[in-house]
Amino acid sequence: MARLKGLMLSLPFGFVLFLCSTFSIVPGVIGWSKEGHEMTCLIAQALLKPEASEAVHHLLPPHVNGNLSALCVWPDQIRHWYKYRWTSPLHFIDTPDEKCGFQYSRDCLEDMCVAGAIKNFTSQLSHYKEGTSDRRYNMTEALLFLSHFMGDIHQPMHVGFTSDKGGNTIDLRWYRHKSNLHHVWDREIILTALADYYDKDVTLLLQDIEKNYTNGIWSDDVASWEHCKDISSCVNNWAKESIQIACKWGYEGVKSGMTLSEKYFDSRMPYVMKRIAQGGIRLAMILNQVFGDSEEGFVAAT
Ligand SMILES: [Zn+2]
Repeated sequence: MARLKGLMLSLPFGFVLFLCSTFSIVPGVIGWSKEGHEMTCLIAQALLKPEASEAVHHLLPPHVNGNLSALCVWPDQIRHWYKYRWTSPLHFIDTPDEKCGFQYSRDCLEDMCVAGAIKNFTSQLSHYKEGTSDRRYNMTEALLFLSHFMGDIHQPMHVGFTSDKGGNTIDLRWYRHKSNLHHVWDREIILTALADYYDKDVTLLLQDIEKNYTNGIWSDDVASWEHCKDISSCVNNWAKESIQIACKWGYEGVKSGMTLSEKYFDSRMPYVMKRIAQGGIRLAMILNQVFGDSEEGFVAAT
């Protein structure tokens, strides 16, 4: 206890609050579900090179024992706290109805969207290697926000239409219970997959996703998924991918009040799994870049 007290006294107040907060939080309901974010971060952490792995361990609070995925849903859990209310718009992008496209200058004003957040937190983390204690930034929070937002930008309905709030106002039934289109993509598809095919075991689902990109249907695509020279154009591409899937597979054929079941599930589940894989692989790519030994980061130090 004395040691803990000593530790707390030596830390800035915000960080103490942060450490405590992680023990007493209410599950979040917006963004990939807890399972989606956890899988994204588990995929990423397994792909980290030694320098990045060490940096991540160093930045995580001790109680998670080096497990990034334990805190990947944290930004959803604190987004309504007074201190973090400013982060609420950073989880998504509203795009003009039916345009099925994303334009940074039009849809991400003052960087206040998930694409802008990824750019900014990547830039903050790029200072880590400098070894300076830049007190403007909290590197632990930057890591958790980046890890979470890499999940969110890959959830297609997080880059949705403005008028229906990314499908949140499209109420419908998922099989027999009430839901909405946004939530179907956040969580329902994942939960149905877990229940129907994986004995409700996230580890088994994750193994299937990993098999697909290491030695399966996506293994030839991984190099192109990871390709990223300039983070600004990468976030634009990732957001465009999402709104295009949202248009073609999310919104397509869906109206308020209808019931979605097997047919929708069977055809959409592969996209959900692929987006989780892409989010994890690309998160690892960013962390390996910002924490790696190479001099060639894609982010100019700011
Ligand atoms: Zn989120």
